Amino acid sequence: MSTIFEQIIERKLPSEVLFEDEDIICIHDKFPQAPVHILLITKKVIPSIDKLTKEDAYLLTKIFVKAKELALEHKIEDGYRILTNHGSSAGQTVPHLHFHLLGGKVLSSKGG
Ligand code: 5GP
Repeated sequence: MSTIFEQIIERKLPSEVLFEDEDIICIHDKFPQAPVHILLITKKVIPSIDKLTKEDAYLLTKIFVKAKELALEHKIEDGYRILTNHGSSAGQTVPHLHFHLLGGKVLSSKGG
């Protein structure tokens, strides 16, 4: 069965697309944890960062550069967080590699 994010990429589920190219898609999180909460998602279905290979490493560069640009566009360049979860104990709910860009408020401590 395809992941929620595959369905968004294939336009089977609606979302407001902020950016898209052949490798990544960026959308607003449906259940935002901060005033700005953007998801940067690889189009290639990699289950999590744990399954990333050296061949996929270019995707990280692309995602981090785009995250910085989206932070500027959303006026959170003074302070933001980029994170990814691997595994349910870390809070991963969608098994499709993605990064959260969070900002627009004072963020709580890094732990949990
Ligand atoms: P994870 O918990 O795997 O790190 O992150 C998955 C994220 O996807 C969550 O923050 C959740 O709110 C978001 N999410 C779940 N379903 C949808 C959806 O249908 N559309 C969008 N835009 N975000 C979703």
